[in-house]
Amino acid sequence: MPTKALYRDDFYLSTAEGTVTAVHEDGAIELDQTCFYATSGGQPGDTGFLERADGSKILLGPTRHGATKDIILHVPLDGQSAPQLGEKLVLHVDWPRRYKLMRMHTACHLLSVVCPFPITGAAVGEDESRVDFDMGDTVNKDEVTAKLMSLVSENHPVFLQWITDEELAANPDIVKSKNVRPPVGLGRVSLVCIGENSAVDSQPCGGTHVSETQEVGAVYIARIEKKGKENRRLRIRFGTPDSESA
Ligand SMILES: [Zn+2]
Repeated sequence: MPTKALYRDDFYLSTAEGTVTAVHEDGAIELDQTCFYATSGGQPGDTGFLERADGSKILLGPTRHGATKDIILHVPLDGQSAPQLGEKLVLHVDWPRRYKLMRMHTACHLLSVVCPFPITGAAVGEDESRVDFDMGDTVNKDEVTAKLMSLVSENHPVFLQWITDEELAANPDIVKSKNVRPPVGLGRVSLVCIGENSAVDSQPCGGTHVSETQEVGAVYIARIEKKGKENRRLRIRFGTPDSESA
């Protein structure tokens, strides 16, 4: 049974109620609905816990998709109790971690504006993220940091627009990512838009993002690595370049 993905309509939803619809042999739990984001598109799945009626907790590792993208699996850590089918649970996302991932993920979008090259890979992390670009010439990391931070401080709105899979197929140019497939297959695709009327950027993405760029906070390019002749890996971290030595 498909899981209703509540986070899709509200990235700031940290708790919700859900009913157990399946418990897999390996312990993975399916619920009728969830605010937990499942690993995909370079963003790690949410961790946190499920609260039972008696107040006890089922601690969860990173959430992932099941056999299809519309199934979301909550994965208990070792030694947790198993809920009953039909049991009602209160879901609690590890919010400080998720919020960092949202800020980082949004920072990666801004980086793709500053470096307008095709993206060949990306991984969002709590402390550091990386984005790989198909670019022959290197860039100055301090200049990239300065441009990134102007986009952050200009406080552009970040919002979603929904288009159909067909509309996306008819407009392949809006996809910047060469290897990361846009989140198609659910009938509709979310475009992450930055700036009034998407003036800064718009890009298909199924991840979670903050609602204005100022929320990203201070970020900087910690390192630029050469990955082959036509590839540069940019590592982005929270803080300022001075925090390197600290
Ligand atoms: Zn995104």
